[in-house]
Amino acid sequence: MTDAVRLTSVAKNYGAVRAVDGVDLSIARGQTVALLGPNGAGKSTTISMILGLLTPTAGTVEVFGTSPADAVRAGRVGAMLQESGFPASATVRELVELARSLYRDPLPLAEIMATADVASIADRRSDKLSGGQSQRLRFAFALAGNPELLILDEPTAALDVESRQQFWAAMRRYAATGRTVLFATHYLEEADDFADRVIVIARGRVVADGSGTEIKKLAGGRTVSFDLTGQDPDAYADLPGVVSAQARGERVLLRCDDSDVTVRALFEGGHRVTNLEVTGAGLEEAFLTLTATPEMEPAR
Ligand code: ADP
Repeated sequence: MTDAVRLTSVAKNYGAVRAVDGVDLSIARGQTVALLGPNGAGKSTTISMILGLLTPTAGTVEVFGTSPADAVRAGRVGAMLQESGFPASATVRELVELARSLYRDPLPLAEIMATADVASIADRRSDKLSGGQSQRLRFAFALAGNPELLILDEPTAALDVESRQQFWAAMRRYAATGRTVLFATHYLEEADDFADRVIVIARGRVVADGSGTEIKKLAGGRTVSFDLTGQDPDAYADLPGVVSAQARGERVLLRCDDSDVTVRALFEGGHRVTNLEVTGAGLEEAFLTLTATPEMEPAR
């Protein structure tokens, strides 16, 4: 069976900005995949190319073995993009009916309302919805055509914790029916909680690709630092637990996947270590580490 999505050497420039820089990836049918990366990483641009809204500068994008435009035209793709508006005077039910009317073979109204969890607000006007309710209505729109592939661009941005949970519960019901879901996020926890597979993108490139657990392990690394007093940072690169070693200002910085082992090795090896500090790498830091490590090849 052809993949749901396949990108081959895809690049996209906006003038001098290279937003997507040579992405290869394939998503099998039935997977729920997170596209995880910091702001500006190229997630929205990638998604827009998969939806046929942007044309790649180089490379090819296939959706179910055809062009994105053909797949969208055939009703096989549903999308929930950031910040789409609704006519204010219409109710939730009317809007979902409207969305259904756009497709030849839509999902039954009741099924959409139940899956997107909007049945209880069916008679509410769209301008009276909370942020979370609006997002569930957008989700209902994306579901209306019964798409095989659902694409969500940062669907829970700006939602509170409870709305987030309700949203993901709704998304899960859809994914459980065997559909393919691709969502963009900059929250590692969200990617880990809801995706079977996490593709990390930074500076327009895929820098890691694996299960949530694998990506968390990569992102959960720590930095061990101490004063640079004439040593060559490279001398520490081969210590156990060290991923990379560098000098920054007056400090030696060791990025570690097991800092306990590294610290033990530093002391047991009789290294001169002053002002030792061990800090957790934040996600942003972890992304940069991943981007800066060319040997970290995508797992698939
Ligand atoms: P993300 O969705 O991960 O936040 P984007 O795909 O929106 O990332 O952006 C990737 C890069 O491309 C960023 O550097 C952004 O500033 C730039 N960019 C996005 N859209 C445009 C545009 N229309 N014109 C120029 N630059 C853009």
